[in-house]
Amino acid sequence: MSEPKKVFFAQNTCINASYDVNVLREGFRRAGYVLADSAEDADEVVFSGCGAHQTWVNDAINQINRIASVSPNAKVTVTGCLAGIDADRVRRSVTHEALAFAPQQEVLKSHTGIDFDEIDRNYDQESALDYEGSTEFNQLRIRVGTEKAAVVAELQKLDREYGLDLEKYYRQTTKGFVFYQENEAVDMITVTRSCPYKCSFCAIPQGRGDYTSVPLDVVVEKVRASLRRGTRRVVLLGDEVGNYGSDLHGPRIKDLLEAILALDPELRVSLRYVEPKPFLKNFPMFERLCGEGRIELLYLPLQSGSQKILMAMNRGYQLDRIVPLYRQLRETTDTIFFCNWLVGFPGETDEDFGATRMLMSDLGLQINTAVPYSERPNTPAPHMPCKIPESVKEQRLIDLRGTIAEMKRREFDLRMEPVAPNRRQHVLDLIAAAECIHVDGFASGASDVASA
Ligand code: SF4
Repeated sequence: MSEPKKVFFAQNTCINASYDVNVLREGFRRAGYVLADSAEDADEVVFSGCGAHQTWVNDAINQINRIASVSPNAKVTVTGCLAGIDADRVRRSVTHEALAFAPQQEVLKSHTGIDFDEIDRNYDQESALDYEGSTEFNQLRIRVGTEKAAVVAELQKLDREYGLDLEKYYRQTTKGFVFYQENEAVDMITVTRSCPYKCSFCAIPQGRGDYTSVPLDVVVEKVRASLRRGTRRVVLLGDEVGNYGSDLHGPRIKDLLEAILALDPELRVSLRYVEPKPFLKNFPMFERLCGEGRIELLYLPLQSGSQKILMAMNRGYQLDRIVPLYRQLRETTDTIFFCNWLVGFPGETDEDFGATRMLMSDLGLQINTAVPYSERPNTPAPHMPCKIPESVKEQRLIDLRGTIAEMKRREFDLRMEPVAPNRRQHVLDLIAAAECIHVDGFASGASDVASA
């Protein structure tokens, strides 16, 4: 009898796509493959890559080259958004003979004969971290970086000494923590894939294919399974969740939320993420559910404070309509808001950038991410005039990230009133510095990307 094949999975994707890698992994496991712990041990490697930003394409290429050097005889299949968006670039930059590209569905079907949807339908993903062989704190350092882990350690001390609740709020409002569980279980459930819009900078629709929704009964069953495990928090994942159901011509986002929230009065959902257009269309529902505390976090990207730039991006909404509603929810509810700001889009003048900075400061949302514009193949934006020089883009990024750090410092300063001034200053400096840590001059983590 022949030995079962060993396959190693590697990735540099956002949370949405890494959910799908888990589905793939589970499909291979059910088909009898052995899941290898490293590329060296594997007969085959499946690499799921991010194609949404040039930085992460480069990171994927480096990782694939490393895999090829330690495992020269393994077949390497590249999948995920990267395979759909930038396969040519990977082909040019990777010197490995046995290199293939395929969408995830095809990877699973061609290797195992199993349909992706079949696994996805009945596979529950818990996001509980595996602490085996490590302390919680070491895990935290690896995931969020030493700077944010150090902030958590300091806030824990202040909470003990002063009877405050700073650590919890920091975790609720800081990138790297919000979608994971260390203190309270949370399950992630993919409800849509890809995006129905055509923003001029974004390659996600190329990378993720047609916009699709997971049928309502499948999502409801997954939420029921979470509740049976005692989990009362779920994250609904999708590159754009707000148009849920538009492809099925059946239940829409409102029906989805009502159906799952009716299952348990203590259940809270986070949405990652919703575009402004469906937010506006469904505003009364969002207003009600945020007000009732049922929506824990809403990831709602505005991208720019300049109407001119938003039009060039093909975003299709009016700031004077959405901003007052966004502000209203921020001021009157406890929902955590997460917003992306895209910096250096072609034609962005100092005034346009200033409008973005002003809007961001004015809204005072809890989580803000500044993402540098990056040219993506087969999108309209690279053909637009007035490209922004890299040095200007870099300066604007530093500027915006400095503003984000300052906003975070101010928010925590207010919450630290009882803390002695020296200690307070020290911890506020740590908080601000942790906001400014980046990789290669860009925000760390593919999940920051405009589409992620
Ligand atoms: S930026 Fe968002 S809304 Fe626009 S096409 Fe990309 S994923 Fe869709």
